[in-house]
Amino acid sequence: MDLGISRKRALVCASSKGLGRGCAEALAAEGVHLVMNARGAEALEAAAAEIRAAHGVDVVTVAADITTEDGRAKVLAAAGDVDILVNNAGGPPPGMWTDWNRDDFIKALDANMLTPIALIKALVPAMMDRGWGRVVNITSQSVKSPIPVLGLSNSARAGLTGYVAGTSRQVAGKGVVINNLLPGIHDTDRATSLDGGVAKAEGISMDDARKKRQATIPAGRYGTAQEFGAACAFLCSQHAGFIVGQNLLLDGGAVNTTL
Ligand code: NAP
Repeated sequence: MDLGISRKRALVCASSKGLGRGCAEALAAEGVHLVMNARGAEALEAAAAEIRAAHGVDVVTVAADITTEDGRAKVLAAAGDVDILVNNAGGPPPGMWTDWNRDDFIKALDANMLTPIALIKALVPAMMDRGWGRVVNITSQSVKSPIPVLGLSNSARAGLTGYVAGTSRQVAGKGVVINNLLPGIHDTDRATSLDGGVAKAEGISMDDARKKRQATIPAGRYGTAQEFGAACAFLCSQHAGFIVGQNLLLDGGAVNTTL
């Protein structure tokens, strides 16, 4: 299927590795020019070089922390007007509900709620003026089904989801659609770190922690960044113009709900 977005420009935040990288790669495969971001310059430059070589698209890189005002200013200055925005950042650490204080919540809200909102506010008005735009926010399955040890993530992402539910309906009439992608467990550094937490807490090996988690997933495996990227590219495509304010779960069936 031709996604009809060749030569569009996309900002993909937090995209040197993992799910963001999967989204960047899938968009580049459709001929979309990219602005890629991550904090670490080395991995970012390596990812950009591989994507340029594989897909022949322009890739601008901005090494910056997207969760800070300074970082966002740098990214926005380099990006200029883009047609597609993929919001992403690292997830908050796990813990116990009794551990988290106000500063922990502010940090999580800054990273996983207020940063995507700031980028939407900065970039969507020009998309509306041009009559076309796509925004995909990478959130989490925890929006549908809480993950108790990720209380900071549960809270911040629920806040973003509420914002998107209303805002997406305010901008859809101008050709801009905003949707959320909800990853269940995917094979990335984040999954390794979460499995590490389980292994430590339960005194089991990493391999056993992974097998234990896999046993809870009807698909019997972790998702891949490539599959995730393909879903993102579709939500950024010409064909997605009637998909407004939705929350698409990519979890191998792990969340046991009818809707
Ligand atoms: P990952 O493998 O750890 O990759 C994170 C990417 O984001 C890296 O490129 C990293 O590069 C960049 N990054 C992290 N913090 C950043 C920041 N403050 N500013 C700019 N770039 C930043 O993570 P992932 O698995 O792809 O997860 C992406 C998001 O999905 C996270 O919010 C995660 O919580 C959520 N999620 C993941 C899963 C899963 O199973 N993987 C499941 C549910 C939700 P630098 O470190 O160099 O900045």
